[in-house]
Amino acid sequence: MGLEIVKLSVRPFAVVIYVPAKLMLGWSGYCFGPVIFIDDRYRHVDGWLIHELTHTSQFYRTWGAHAIRYYIDKKYRISCETEAYYNQLLRAKKPGLTRHQVENRLNRIK
Ligand SMILES: [Zn+2]
Repeated sequence: MGLEIVKLSVRPFAVVIYVPAKLMLGWSGYCFGPVIFIDDRYRHVDGWLIHELTHTSQFYRTWGAHAIRYYIDKKYRISCETEAYYNQLLRAKKPGLTRHQVENRLNRIK
């Protein structure tokens, strides 16, 4: 089907699955706790993996509450995305986004 598990992250523990773009519904990456899906086109853009691993860390450090709170609490969602984009921009060799694009995305969070 084209799904490919190519990476296991140890810290935080996560299974990373690269997915064909047509199955990602417009998302670059998506995280369900320790399971991360990344658009296959961004396999070599480490910024997206770093972004989603940040969400996995948020999941672990809240003992899973992140998975619920993220969807019901806008302030929490903004703080989570700010941390994830911060890591994406500053820790990745290839962030995949510019600072300006990040600012636009953070401003569009509802
Ligand atoms: Zn995010």
